Amino acid sequence: MTPPSPERVEELRANLAAVHERIARAAADTRRAADEIALVVVTKFFPASDVRLLAGLGITDVGENRHQEAEAKAAECADLGLRWHFIGGLQSNKAAAVARYADVVESVDRPALVPRLARGAADAGRVVDVLLQVSLDPPGRNHRAGADPATLPALADEVARTPELRLRGLMAVAPLDDDPALAFARLAGIRADFLARHPEATLLSAGMSGDLEAAITVGATHVRIGSAVLGSRPGVQ
Ligand SMILES: *Cc1c(COP(=O)(O)O)cnc(C)c1O
Repeated sequence: MTPPSPERVEELRANLAAVHERIARAAADTRRAADEIALVVVTKFFPASDVRLLAGLGITDVGENRHQEAEAKAAECADLGLRWHFIGGLQSNKAAAVARYADVVESVDRPALVPRLARGAADAGRVVDVLLQVSLDPPGRNHRAGADPATLPALADEVARTPELRLRGLMAVAPLDDDPALAFARLAGIRADFLARHPEATLLSAGMSGDLEAAITVGATHVRIGSAVLGSRPGVQ
């Protein structure tokens, strides 16, 4: 393994400081404590050596969106004690494998995934935290990813009665062509209904490099930040 360059360490350190600063300012603006908001650094497309540097800089939670890449990096970094968040579209035939290494699966959006995740968790002898990904696309639009809010109650009940999974909350991505503040305002309403049925599932993963402030305003407990920490992703995204 080539040793990490000192420049890369300093770049990550400076980027992390800037992101923590943005989180602190957004939290203060909404009278929330900054330590209520967890930073998940999205390391997709970046090498395991960067994950290792991030751990050295105090990062405890990392996110990945593609199964093969995530599985390999989690294995390579198994000694670091990180929490791995799976945040990508989940194919049914990969779900069991994801549940063997992911500590949190944030992208559960349909009931068919539930028994498969449960089987992977059981195989690995663990209980996996689950967030339900909810679509913020306006009604009538083709959903790219995420459950239609109307299907959320049934999906939540399904997860809640599965002993290998722990229902922890919701996750969402603001649609590309929408004002994130408006999209996240819809999310806040969806979350209020959800919490009425599942009051213990209080996590809310929302906000990326471009819109973390808007997400914190509506109560995000986790922000998922990639490019603002690691730089722009190599190649296509
Ligand atoms: C890539 C990705 C992120 C991070 O995006 P940035 O804009 O680079 O911060 C967050 N959430 C999901 C679901 C992603 O796929």
